[in-house]
Order: sequence, then C-alpha cells, then structure tokens
Amino acid sequence: MSLSDALLQRVAEQYGTPTYIYDLEAIGRALGRLRRALPEARIHYAVKANPNGAVLRHLAAAGVGAEVITLGELRRALAAGIPAKRVLLGGPGQDTALIHQALGCGVRQVSLDSLSQWRLWQAEDPQVGFLVRLNPALDPRTHEHLATGAASSKFGMPLEEAGQLAEELAARGQLLGFHVHAGSQIGELAVYEQILAQLAELYQQFPAGLLDIGGGFAVPNFPLAEFATRLRDFIRRYDLQLVLEPGRYLVAEAGFLLTRVVQVKAGPVNHVIADAGMADLLRPALYGALHPIRLIGVTETDRPLVMVDIDGPLCENADRLGRARTLPSPRRGDLLLVEQAGAYGFTMASNYASSLRPAEVAVRDGGLILARRRETVEDLLRLEDA
Ligand SMILES: *Cc1c(COP(=O)(O)O)cnc(C)c1O
Repeated sequence: MSLSDALLQRVAEQYGTPTYIYDLEAIGRALGRLRRALPEARIHYAVKANPNGAVLRHLAAAGVGAEVITLGELRRALAAGIPAKRVLLGGPGQDTALIHQALGCGVRQVSLDSLSQWRLWQAEDPQVGFLVRLNPALDPRTHEHLATGAASSKFGMPLEEAGQLAEELAARGQLLGFHVHAGSQIGELAVYEQILAQLAELYQQFPAGLLDIGGGFAVPNFPLAEFATRLRDFIRRYDLQLVLEPGRYLVAEAGFLLTRVVQVKAGPVNHVIADAGMADLLRPALYGALHPIRLIGVTETDRPLVMVDIDGPLCENADRLGRARTLPSPRRGDLLLVEQAGAYGFTMASNYASSLRPAEVAVRDGGLILARRRETVEDLLRLEDA
C-alpha cells in the first residue's frame, strides 16, 4: 500500500518541496514482518538509518530497542522513550568521552570493535556486558561502501583475536556474546551461512548466551523466511538469545522524498532538474543506489513516455536522483516521488552549496504531522554568529 496522490499533493501544498514523508504504519508493518518471522529475537533499531524523532517514538512505543554509535543517537533514542537498558552502544570510534557519556546515560550493553577499545572500557571497570564484534573477512556481495564485513574493512576483529578477547571478558563475567554486522543491502543467504560457520567455532568455545547478527537486510526482497529458519536452527543449537539490528529493513520502504521539477532540458540526454539532489538524498551519488521515481498525478495515457535523467539543482555532476528513467514527459512544476527513501535519506542530507535541508512529515492515521521543519537561511547562519 502506498500513499495516495491526493495526500502527496497535500504535502506539497502544506509543506513545500523537497520534503521527506514517512508512513508510520508502513514502519509498523515491516516490524510486524520481522517479529512474525523471528518472534524470539530482540530488536535493536539501528538509529543511523533514520533518527527522526517521530520515527523513533513510533518504534519505541512498539517496544523496539536501539543500536547507537554516537552521543547524538543515544540521546535521541532516550528522548524518544527507548530505555537505556534497551540501548546497545557500538561503533569503531568509542573514546573515553563517549564511554563516560554512555555510562552516565545508563548504557550497560556495548559492542567492542577492537582490543584497544576494550582497554579504554577496562580502565573504567564498569558494570557493563560486552559483545565482541567479529570481522568475518568475507565478500558480503554488496557495494564496496556497504561491505563492513570484508577483511579490509575497519570493523570488528578477526576470529582468533575475537576469541582471545572473549576469553578475557568471560573470565571477568562480562561476556554477553558475539556481534557481526557484515554489511548493508545483503540479499544472499550464503553470506549468513559463512558467518554462522565462523560463529559456530566461537560458540563451541564460549557458551555466551547472546548472538547479535546485526542488520543489513536488503530492501526490497530479503529472503526473510529462509533467514529465519537458518537462524532459528543456530540459536537453538547453542541456546542463544538472538538480537537483530535492522535499520533499512524497518524504514526504507516507509519513506519517500517528494520533489518538484524546476527545469526540463531536452537534448542528447533529456535532463529533468528537480529541486532535490545529492544534498537531500546522497545515495544515488554515493553508492549508485537505484530509487524508483514516479510522477504524481500524471499517467502514461496523459503524455508520451520519454527517457530522462533526473538531476538535482547543484553544480556537481554527481548531483542526480536517477538515470535513464522512462516517465510520461515531465514538465516544470510536476511533482516527483522518490521511493524507498526512508533509510539513509534525510540522515545523510547536508548543507552542501548552502542547501537547506528538507522538511520531514510523518503520516499517521491518514493525517500529516510536521516531524521536522524545513531549514531556513537563518538556520544556516546561526552557528557562525557565535
Ligand atoms: C548500520 C548498521 C546496522 C544497520 O544496517 P542496515 O543495513 O540499515 O540494516 C546494524 N548494525 C550496525 C553495527 C550498523 O553499523
């Protein structure tokens, strides 16, 4: 089920463009699918995928925990009503300041990315349980930028080192289990098979209790049923509590970027210039991500189909939303809807070229809520006046 053209036109009238729109019910449906597939799993939403307060509050109300890597994410999760005991702190950049802040906020579950990070925590001697993050050193068969589980990536520890750290933690009674997050947009079960084979070696040595298999579930078309069967098998064998850290899976399809056509340029390549581009949605420029894009309120019977590039308004060749798309001849003033934009959309938006970051609107029970107002030039200048 997607949002009606009438509703999208209302968003454009009331809030202008470009605007992100989040369908909270769609987030609930994605969560429902995960929970039905793996009812025994604990779910920690990866806040970086979409940290908007309306989204976080909706997930908090549904009983979801959080995976955070910065003080900002931690404070947002707490502000949205996710209790500290359901927050897992991860990331390769934990320093003493963040450690103190996290302890002060009541965080008691931490994923350790390296031995040196453990030494910092050890110096605090905290009452914290730790997960050891394994680098499975595999080809996660996704885009290079998303391949967090490759041997060359900065994340986690190789099997042997993970085992050594686990031994030290277990001796102190502070080992919760192991953590793997092998990448994002993983669509092949074979990747998880390889990970589970390595994890089996660790869980045979350490009866650790918890398995955090990370997130990375591809959108669309993640083989959820097969994944669930395989994981259930594994956690039963080793008597484990399963933790999932979905980001994209929960929010990608629930989010849309509404943008208006500002110019149309015919030529060897037809260019449609939209009022949103890489400053608003970076994924096409950064990863070559493909987002479905459609015209609002115009059908194929209304106008002849043409092939167009959909570009942003900035002076930068990577500034585009989509290439070689077939649409009913877009005209100036038309509304375009960029779909599957709820994850890594606004959260990666920038003020590049002094762009103003878009408004964010949430749809709940058919009504519209302004979840974050559009930035103004005053917002841009404010921090420089200090
Ligand atoms: C980014 C991240 C996630 C979520 O990834 P998705 O692809 O959005 O599901 C989960 N865990 C960790 C450690 C991450 O860095």
